[in-house]
Amino acid sequence: MPGDYYEILGVAKDASQDEIKKAYRALAKKYHPDVTDLSKEDAEAKFKEVSEAYEVLSDEGKRKTYDQYGHAGVNSQFSNGGFSWDDFTHADDISDIFGDIFGSMFGGRRQQQRSRNSPRQGESLRYDMEITLQDVLKGKTAELSIPHTISCGDCRGTGGKDGKIETCQTCGGAGQMQRVSRTPFGNMVSVSDCSNCNGTGTSFKERCPKCRGSGKVSISSKVSVNIPKGVEEEMRIRVPGAGDAGYNGGPPGDLIVVLHIKKDKNFERDGANLWSEVNTTYPKLVLGGEETVKTIDGETISLTIPSGTQVGGVLRISGKGLPKMNQSSRGNMFVRVKMDVPSKTTPLEKELLMKLDDQAGKKSSGKGRSKFRQKLDER
Ligand SMILES: [Zn+2]
Ligand SMILES: [Zn+2]
Repeated sequence: MPGDYYEILGVAKDASQDEIKKAYRALAKKYHPDVTDLSKEDAEAKFKEVSEAYEVLSDEGKRKTYDQYGHAGVNSQFSNGGFSWDDFTHADDISDIFGDIFGSMFGGRRQQQRSRNSPRQGESLRYDMEITLQDVLKGKTAELSIPHTISCGDCRGTGGKDGKIETCQTCGGAGQMQRVSRTPFGNMVSVSDCSNCNGTGTSFKERCPKCRGSGKVSISSKVSVNIPKGVEEEMRIRVPGAGDAGYNGGPPGDLIVVLHIKKDKNFERDGANLWSEVNTTYPKLVLGGEETVKTIDGETISLTIPSGTQVGGVLRISGKGLPKMNQSSRGNMFVRVKMDVPSKTTPLEKELLMKLDDQAGKKSSGKGRSKFRQKLDER
Protein backbone atom coordinates (compact mmCIF):
# COMPACT_ATOMS: atom_id res chain seq x y z
CA MET A 1 0.00 0.00 0.00
CA PRO A 2 1.49 3.34 -1.00
CA GLY A 3 1.92 6.12 1.57
CA ASP A 4 -0.29 9.13 1.87
CA TYR A 5 -0.19 11.11 -1.36
CA TYR A 6 -0.06 14.45 0.41
CA GLU A 7 2.82 13.27 2.55
CA ILE A 8 4.68 11.88 -0.44
CA LEU A 9 4.56 15.24 -2.17
CA GLY A 10 5.08 17.09 1.10
CA VAL A 11 2.05 19.34 0.67
CA ALA A 12 -0.89 20.24 2.91
CA LYS A 13 -4.30 18.61 2.47
CA ASP A 14 -5.65 21.87 1.13
CA ALA A 15 -2.68 22.59 -1.16
CA SER A 16 -3.44 24.49 -4.36
CA GLN A 17 -2.80 22.92 -7.78
CA ASP A 18 0.13 25.27 -8.11
CA GLU A 19 1.72 24.04 -4.91
CA ILE A 20 1.16 20.43 -5.92
CA LYS A 21 2.72 21.04 -9.29
CA LYS A 22 5.71 22.80 -7.76
CA ALA A 23 6.26 20.04 -5.23
CA TYR A 24 6.05 17.39 -7.90
CA ARG A 25 8.37 19.21 -10.21
CA ALA A 26 11.01 19.52 -7.50
CA LEU A 27 10.72 15.85 -6.51
CA ALA A 28 10.72 14.57 -10.07
CA LYS A 29 13.93 16.45 -10.68
CA LYS A 30 15.39 15.21 -7.43
CA TYR A 31 14.83 11.57 -8.35
CA HIS A 32 15.81 11.84 -11.96
CA PRO A 33 18.43 9.17 -12.71
CA ASP A 34 20.86 11.76 -14.08
CA VAL A 35 21.09 13.67 -10.84
CA THR A 36 20.04 11.49 -7.94
CA ASP A 37 22.44 9.80 -5.53
CA LEU A 38 20.06 6.88 -5.08
CA SER A 39 20.42 3.55 -6.85
CA LYS A 40 18.41 3.09 -10.03
CA GLU A 41 15.89 0.87 -8.23
CA ASP A 42 15.40 3.25 -5.34
CA ALA A 43 15.14 6.27 -7.60
CA GLU A 44 12.64 4.44 -9.76
CA ALA A 45 10.55 3.42 -6.76
CA LYS A 46 10.62 6.96 -5.40
CA PHE A 47 9.75 8.41 -8.74
CA LYS A 48 6.89 6.00 -9.20
CA GLU A 49 5.54 6.92 -5.79
CA VAL A 50 5.82 10.64 -6.50
CA SER A 51 4.30 10.33 -9.99
CA GLU A 52 1.41 8.31 -8.68
CA ALA A 53 0.72 10.88 -5.99
CA TYR A 54 0.92 13.67 -8.50
CA GLU A 55 -1.31 12.02 -11.03
CA VAL A 56 -4.03 11.68 -8.48
CA LEU A 57 -3.70 15.01 -6.71
CA SER A 58 -3.26 17.06 -9.88
CA ASP A 59 -6.62 15.86 -11.15
CA GLU A 60 -9.44 17.45 -9.15
CA GLY A 61 -11.77 14.53 -9.80
CA LYS A 62 -9.28 11.89 -8.73
CA ARG A 63 -8.22 14.00 -5.81
CA LYS A 64 -11.78 14.18 -4.57
CA THR A 65 -12.15 10.43 -4.86
CA TYR A 66 -8.89 9.92 -3.04
CA ASP A 67 -9.89 12.35 -0.28
CA GLN A 68 -13.11 10.44 0.14
CA TYR A 69 -12.10 6.83 -0.31
CA GLY A 70 -8.33 6.81 0.07
CA HIS A 71 -6.17 4.51 -2.03
CA ALA A 72 -8.97 2.07 -2.63
CA GLY A 73 -10.68 4.65 -4.80
CA VAL A 74 -7.77 5.34 -7.11
CA ASN A 75 -5.69 2.20 -6.94
CA SER A 76 -6.91 0.13 -9.82
CA GLN A 77 -5.22 1.99 -12.59
CA PHE A 78 -1.75 1.46 -11.13
CA SER A 79 -2.10 -2.23 -10.47
CA ASN A 80 -1.11 -3.29 -13.96
CA GLY A 81 2.29 -2.25 -15.13
CA GLY A 82 3.05 1.06 -13.54
CA PHE A 83 6.14 3.04 -14.43
CA SER A 84 9.69 2.25 -15.15
CA TRP A 85 12.45 4.52 -16.34
CA ASP A 86 12.23 2.90 -19.72
CA ASP A 87 8.61 3.86 -20.18
CA PHE A 88 9.33 7.16 -18.76
CA THR A 89 12.13 8.09 -21.09
CA HIS A 90 10.93 6.36 -24.24
CA ALA A 91 7.21 6.54 -24.49
CA ASP A 92 5.23 9.57 -25.39
CA ASP A 93 2.15 8.40 -23.56
CA ILE A 94 3.64 9.14 -20.18
CA SER A 95 4.58 12.64 -21.17
CA ASP A 96 1.09 13.13 -22.55
CA ILE A 97 -0.42 12.19 -19.23
CA PHE A 98 1.80 14.60 -17.38
CA GLY A 99 1.66 17.32 -19.94
CA ASP A 100 3.85 20.32 -19.39
CA ILE A 101 5.65 18.85 -16.40
CA PHE A 102 7.47 16.43 -18.58
CA GLY A 103 7.55 18.96 -21.31
CA SER A 104 9.69 21.18 -19.17
CA MET A 105 11.83 18.36 -17.83
CA PHE A 106 12.55 16.60 -21.04
CA GLY A 107 11.99 19.32 -23.56
CA GLY A 108 14.48 18.23 -26.19
CA ARG A 109 13.95 14.54 -25.83
CA ARG A 110 10.24 14.79 -25.90
CA GLN A 111 10.25 16.80 -29.07
CA GLN A 112 12.53 14.31 -30.70
CA GLN A 113 10.41 11.37 -29.68
CA ARG A 114 7.18 13.12 -30.37
CA SER A 115 6.72 11.29 -33.60
CA ARG A 116 9.11 9.15 -35.52
CA ASN A 117 7.70 10.22 -38.85
CA SER A 118 8.34 13.92 -38.33
CA PRO A 119 11.48 15.37 -39.93
CA ARG A 120 14.57 15.13 -37.77
CA GLN A 121 18.14 16.24 -38.22
CA GLY A 122 20.67 13.55 -39.12
CA GLU A 123 23.58 12.48 -36.93
CA SER A 124 26.57 14.74 -36.56
CA LEU A 125 29.95 13.22 -37.32
CA ARG A 126 33.26 13.78 -35.54
CA TYR A 127 36.53 13.93 -37.40
CA ASP A 128 39.82 14.10 -35.50
CA MET A 129 42.42 15.99 -37.46
CA GLU A 130 46.14 16.45 -36.84
CA ILE A 131 47.70 19.77 -37.74
CA THR A 132 51.19 21.20 -37.29
CA LEU A 133 52.45 24.29 -35.49
CA GLN A 134 53.01 25.76 -38.94
CA ASP A 135 49.26 25.41 -39.56
CA VAL A 136 48.61 27.22 -36.28
CA LEU A 137 50.98 29.95 -37.44
CA LYS A 138 49.57 30.47 -40.91
CA GLY A 139 46.07 29.04 -40.81
CA LYS A 140 45.03 26.43 -43.36
CA THR A 141 42.27 25.27 -45.62
CA ALA A 142 42.06 21.50 -45.32
CA GLU A 143 40.37 19.32 -47.93
CA LEU A 144 38.85 16.33 -46.19
CA SER A 145 37.23 13.24 -47.58
CA ILE A 146 34.32 12.44 -45.30
CA PRO A 147 32.31 9.21 -45.53
CA HIS A 148 28.70 9.87 -44.61
CA THR A 149 25.17 9.07 -45.68
CA ILE A 150 22.90 11.08 -47.93
CA SER A 151 19.28 10.66 -48.82
CA CYS A 152 18.94 8.06 -51.60
CA GLY A 153 18.36 9.82 -54.92
CA ASP A 154 16.63 6.90 -56.62
CA CYS A 155 13.77 6.75 -54.13
CA ARG A 156 14.04 10.31 -52.79
CA GLY A 157 14.82 8.89 -49.36
CA THR A 158 11.57 6.95 -49.12
CA GLY A 159 13.07 3.46 -49.41
CA GLY A 160 10.38 2.39 -51.91
CA LYS A 161 11.28 1.47 -55.50
CA ASP A 162 11.18 4.60 -57.71
CA GLY A 163 9.94 6.50 -54.68
CA LYS A 164 6.64 4.62 -54.71
CA ILE A 165 5.27 4.49 -51.22
CA GLU A 166 1.87 4.16 -49.70
CA THR A 167 0.30 5.02 -46.43
CA CYS A 168 0.85 2.29 -43.87
CA GLN A 169 -2.35 0.25 -43.68
CA THR A 170 -1.77 -0.82 -40.12
CA CYS A 171 -1.58 2.62 -38.55
CA GLY A 172 -3.26 4.65 -41.28
CA GLY A 173 -0.13 6.78 -41.68
CA ALA A 174 0.06 7.98 -38.10
CA GLY A 175 3.17 5.91 -37.39
CA GLN A 176 1.76 5.15 -33.99
CA MET A 177 -0.75 2.80 -32.51
CA GLN A 178 -3.03 3.82 -29.71
CA ARG A 179 -4.14 1.45 -27.04
CA VAL A 180 -7.05 2.49 -24.90
CA SER A 181 -7.53 0.99 -21.46
CA ARG A 182 -10.50 1.68 -19.26
CA THR A 183 -10.03 2.98 -15.75
CA PRO A 184 -12.58 4.10 -13.19
CA PHE A 185 -11.73 7.67 -14.09
CA GLY A 186 -12.03 7.45 -17.81
CA ASN A 187 -10.03 6.01 -20.65
CA MET A 188 -6.25 5.98 -20.56
CA VAL A 189 -4.54 6.10 -23.89
CA SER A 190 -1.10 4.70 -24.48
CA VAL A 191 0.77 5.16 -27.73
CA SER A 192 3.54 3.11 -29.29
CA ASP A 193 5.29 3.00 -32.65
CA CYS A 194 3.53 1.08 -35.37
CA SER A 195 5.25 -2.27 -35.74
CA ASN A 196 4.49 -2.53 -39.46
CA CYS A 197 6.19 0.71 -40.53
CA ASN A 198 8.47 1.27 -37.53
CA GLY A 199 6.79 4.57 -36.91
CA THR A 200 7.37 6.13 -40.34
CA GLY A 201 3.69 6.00 -41.33
CA THR A 202 4.56 4.77 -44.80
CA SER A 203 5.30 1.42 -46.35
CA PHE A 204 6.21 0.18 -49.83
CA LYS A 205 5.47 -2.91 -51.88
CA GLU A 206 8.91 -3.08 -53.46
CA ARG A 207 12.04 -1.76 -51.84
CA CYS A 208 14.43 0.55 -53.61
CA PRO A 209 17.25 -1.65 -54.96
CA LYS A 210 19.87 1.06 -54.51
CA CYS A 211 19.43 1.70 -50.76
CA ARG A 212 17.69 -1.63 -49.99
CA GLY A 213 14.81 0.23 -48.46
CA SER A 214 16.79 2.30 -45.97
CA GLY A 215 16.33 5.54 -47.92
CA LYS A 216 20.01 6.36 -47.39
CA VAL A 217 23.21 5.67 -49.28
CA SER A 218 26.81 5.98 -48.12
CA ILE A 219 29.12 8.25 -50.03
CA SER A 220 32.36 10.10 -49.47
CA SER A 221 32.24 13.87 -49.81
CA LYS A 222 35.00 16.40 -50.20
CA VAL A 223 34.70 18.96 -47.46
CA SER A 224 36.72 22.13 -47.25
CA VAL A 225 37.55 23.15 -43.68
CA ASN A 226 38.93 26.55 -42.88
CA ILE A 227 41.33 26.47 -39.93
CA PRO A 228 42.03 29.97 -38.65
CA LYS A 229 45.37 31.13 -37.29
CA GLY A 230 46.10 30.60 -33.61
CA VAL A 231 43.83 27.60 -33.00
CA GLU A 232 44.35 25.57 -29.83
CA GLU A 233 44.43 21.88 -28.99
CA GLU A 234 40.96 20.21 -29.03
CA MET A 235 39.35 23.20 -30.71
CA ARG A 236 36.27 22.25 -32.74
CA ILE A 237 35.22 23.50 -36.13
CA ARG A 238 31.66 22.83 -37.17
CA VAL A 239 30.80 22.32 -40.82
CA PRO A 240 27.01 22.58 -41.00
CA GLY A 241 25.24 19.97 -43.10
CA ALA A 242 28.27 17.75 -43.74
CA GLY A 243 27.09 14.94 -41.43
CA ASP A 244 24.67 12.09 -42.02
CA ALA A 245 21.36 12.39 -43.87
CA GLY A 246 18.34 13.63 -41.94
CA TYR A 247 15.28 11.55 -41.13
CA ASN A 248 12.00 11.97 -42.98
CA GLY A 249 13.26 14.88 -45.01
CA GLY A 250 14.93 16.59 -42.03
CA PRO A 251 18.22 18.46 -42.48
CA PRO A 252 21.53 16.58 -42.46
CA GLY A 253 23.72 16.56 -39.35
CA ASP A 254 26.94 18.53 -39.02
CA LEU A 255 30.56 17.59 -39.30
CA ILE A 256 32.62 18.45 -36.24
CA VAL A 257 36.34 18.64 -36.86
CA VAL A 258 38.36 18.28 -33.66
CA LEU A 259 41.89 19.66 -33.99
CA HIS A 260 44.98 18.03 -32.52
CA ILE A 261 48.32 19.77 -32.76
CA LYS A 262 51.31 17.56 -33.53
CA LYS A 263 54.40 17.81 -31.37
CA ASP A 264 57.08 19.90 -33.04
CA LYS A 265 60.71 18.86 -32.81
CA ASN A 266 62.00 22.40 -32.34
CA PHE A 267 59.26 24.23 -30.51
CA GLU A 268 57.09 23.67 -27.53
CA ARG A 269 53.89 25.63 -27.35
CA ASP A 270 52.61 27.54 -24.33
CA GLY A 271 49.50 29.40 -25.45
CA ALA A 272 50.72 31.97 -27.94
CA ASN A 273 54.31 31.64 -26.75
CA LEU A 274 56.89 29.26 -28.17
CA TRP A 275 59.82 27.72 -26.35
CA SER A 276 63.04 26.48 -27.90
CA GLU A 277 66.68 25.96 -26.94
CA VAL A 278 70.04 27.19 -28.09
CA ASN A 279 73.48 25.72 -27.49
CA THR A 280 76.35 28.00 -26.65
CA THR A 281 79.84 27.88 -25.14
CA TYR A 282 81.30 28.69 -21.74
CA PRO A 283 83.26 31.74 -23.01
CA LYS A 284 80.09 33.20 -24.59
CA LEU A 285 78.16 32.71 -21.37
CA VAL A 286 80.87 34.50 -19.45
CA LEU A 287 81.85 37.21 -21.88
CA GLY A 288 78.66 37.54 -23.93
CA GLY A 289 78.32 36.73 -27.63
CA GLU A 290 75.98 35.75 -30.40
CA GLU A 291 74.23 32.57 -31.47
CA THR A 292 71.88 31.97 -34.37
CA VAL A 293 68.39 30.58 -33.84
CA LYS A 294 65.57 29.62 -36.20
CA THR A 295 62.14 31.08 -35.65
CA ILE A 296 58.86 29.29 -36.40
CA ASP A 297 58.62 31.45 -39.55
CA GLY A 298 61.79 29.75 -40.77
CA GLU A 299 64.03 32.80 -40.58
CA THR A 300 67.46 32.59 -38.99
CA ILE A 301 68.14 35.37 -36.57
CA SER A 302 71.07 36.35 -34.45
CA LEU A 303 70.49 36.10 -30.72
CA THR A 304 72.61 38.11 -28.31
CA ILE A 305 73.87 36.19 -25.29
CA PRO A 306 74.50 38.82 -22.62
CA SER A 307 77.67 38.43 -20.55
CA GLY A 308 77.10 36.49 -17.34
CA THR A 309 74.23 34.40 -18.73
CA GLN A 310 73.68 31.22 -16.71
CA VAL A 311 73.08 27.78 -18.15
CA GLY A 312 69.29 27.38 -18.24
CA GLY A 313 68.79 31.12 -18.53
CA VAL A 314 65.91 32.24 -20.75
CA LEU A 315 66.15 34.86 -23.49
CA ARG A 316 63.14 36.42 -25.16
CA ILE A 317 62.58 37.26 -28.80
CA SER A 318 59.41 39.30 -28.84
CA GLY A 319 56.69 38.86 -31.43
CA LYS A 320 58.07 35.58 -32.80
CA GLY A 321 55.55 33.32 -31.09
CA LEU A 322 52.21 32.19 -32.49
CA PRO A 323 49.35 34.42 -33.57
CA LYS A 324 46.51 34.87 -31.13
CA MET A 325 43.08 33.93 -32.44
CA ASN A 326 41.18 36.85 -33.95
CA GLN A 327 44.01 39.22 -33.08
CA SER A 328 46.80 40.70 -35.11
CA SER A 329 49.42 40.35 -32.36
CA ARG A 330 51.70 37.40 -31.83
CA GLY A 331 53.16 35.82 -28.71
CA ASN A 332 56.87 35.67 -27.92
CA MET A 333 59.59 33.16 -28.54
CA PHE A 334 61.57 32.10 -25.48
CA VAL A 335 64.97 30.52 -25.87
CA ARG A 336 66.49 28.48 -23.07
CA VAL A 337 70.29 28.59 -23.05
CA LYS A 338 72.15 25.29 -22.92
CA MET A 339 75.82 24.54 -22.90
CA ASP A 340 77.27 21.36 -24.30
CA VAL A 341 80.45 20.26 -22.59
CA PRO A 342 82.88 19.07 -25.28
CA SER A 343 84.08 15.50 -24.83
CA LYS A 344 87.24 16.06 -26.90
CA THR A 345 89.64 18.98 -26.80
CA THR A 346 92.59 20.11 -28.90
CA PRO A 347 95.96 20.55 -27.14
CA LEU A 348 95.53 24.32 -27.26
CA GLU A 349 92.03 24.13 -25.75
CA LYS A 350 93.37 21.83 -23.05
CA GLU A 351 96.14 24.27 -22.22
CA LEU A 352 93.77 27.22 -22.10
CA LEU A 353 91.28 25.34 -19.95
CA MET A 354 93.98 24.34 -17.49
CA LYS A 355 95.14 27.92 -17.27
CA LEU A 356 91.57 28.98 -16.74
CA ASP A 357 91.11 26.45 -13.96
CA ASP A 358 94.35 27.52 -12.39
CA GLN A 359 93.14 31.11 -12.42
CA ALA A 360 89.78 30.12 -10.97
CA GLY A 361 91.56 28.13 -8.22
CA LYS A 362 93.66 31.16 -7.24
CA LYS A 363 90.52 33.25 -7.09
CA SER A 364 88.71 30.83 -4.82
CA SER A 365 91.67 30.15 -2.46
CA GLY A 366 92.05 33.87 -1.88
CA LYS A 367 89.48 36.14 -0.35
CA GLY A 368 86.80 34.74 -2.64
CA ARG A 369 86.79 31.43 -0.74
CA SER A 370 83.46 29.73 -0.38
CA LYS A 371 81.83 29.27 3.00
CA PHE A 372 81.90 25.53 2.43
CA ARG A 373 85.67 25.51 2.08
CA GLN A 374 86.10 27.67 5.12
CA LYS A 375 84.09 25.20 7.18
CA LEU A 376 86.24 22.32 6.00
CA ASP A 377 89.36 24.25 6.96
CA GLU A 378 88.09 24.92 10.44
CA ARG A 379 87.81 21.25 11.30
ZN1 LIG B 1 16.57 4.31 -52.31
ZN1 LIG C 1 2.29 1.96 -39.67
